[in-house]
Amino acid sequence: MSALPWPPLRDALVGEEPYGAPQIDVPVQLNTNENPYGPSAAAAADIAEAVRGAALTLNRYPDREAHALRADLATYLNADGGQQLSEANVWAANGSNEVMLQLLQAFGGPGRVALSFAPTYSMYPEYARDSLTEWVVGHRESDFSLDLEAARRKVLEVQPAVVLLPSPNNPTGTALPPEAVAMLCEAAGNGIVVIDEAYGEFRREGVPSALEVLPRYRNLVVTRTMSKAFALAGARLGYLAAHPDVVDAVRVVRLPYHLSAVTQAAARAALRHAPELLGKVAELRAERDDTVAWLRAQGLEVADSDANFVLFGTFADRHAVWQQVLERGVLIRETGPDGWLRVSIGTPEEMTAFKSALVAVVEENR
Ligand code: PMP
Repeated sequence: MSALPWPPLRDALVGEEPYGAPQIDVPVQLNTNENPYGPSAAAAADIAEAVRGAALTLNRYPDREAHALRADLATYLNADGGQQLSEANVWAANGSNEVMLQLLQAFGGPGRVALSFAPTYSMYPEYARDSLTEWVVGHRESDFSLDLEAARRKVLEVQPAVVLLPSPNNPTGTALPPEAVAMLCEAAGNGIVVIDEAYGEFRREGVPSALEVLPRYRNLVVTRTMSKAFALAGARLGYLAAHPDVVDAVRVVRLPYHLSAVTQAAARAALRHAPELLGKVAELRAERDDTVAWLRAQGLEVADSDANFVLFGTFADRHAVWQQVLERGVLIRETGPDGWLRVSIGTPEEMTAFKSALVAVVEENR
């Protein structure tokens, strides 16, 4: 008889559930922070044409280093806070989740610590678990901001190999001030500081991207994705900007040909349509600000948001509220600290449906 359990999972994975929000087919889906606006027919046709071209080459492996795509991404970033970034500063993979897992595979590992400040993105502990990295969390203030002095002390105490922080934060929507990024990079020594800007394009006027301080810190990594503002979640394309030494280190752990020719072609075509795909960002920001104001007017607590979602509460039984809103055809997310719920910003029609459902549910439970 084998001494191994069945299935022979390692101890850390026993009883673990696969990560993911419920995918439920309801009319209004406001639970995974997608962009509610799909590509135009013209953009879709161009993407299809690029994929058709790639299809003719599918007997060959793709460009293993995604040279052309990385150069295109650098050009895009240089228009949004990047300072003279080139292909050597950029790395891409299948979603920013894969980018960050690669970062943990390269810079984490046994005997090393990854640090974040809760509430934070709930995939981070999974990257740590899957790369055998110890996971440590500090805490944010009650308004979800970061106390810079306390955070600095935590970094000095824990000596993390990797610090992971979203800005704007998921699930709270809170952006980090530039002095926080500088402080973390200085306190971390040679530790890598990952500022996860998955929602970076939604930040409010006057909030700078961490890309602006990238030239000052060789240990700073800024991650981005095409899944949110770019309206391309289905394509799976995430990327990072960093010192070329960091990019080279990540290349050591990437699987050969990890980014398919189809993905590279689709992403490059989408980048050619960047102004159009990003064209709804201003509208989504305005809708977000309206949603924050509306929720506050209902007497709810609402976190300030620089993202395309809003965290609100608090409810004695948030699961019941989530369930009853769902019964009215609106799927939101049960996430964040106890008592809070998160709604992604949809079209004006979807937000009207959300508001009516929430009002009815709150009324019913009064
Ligand atoms: N970072 C944050 C903060 C996120 O919320 C998400 C998506 N939920 C991701 C990264 C990963 O996105 P993707 O893999 O689609 O790029």
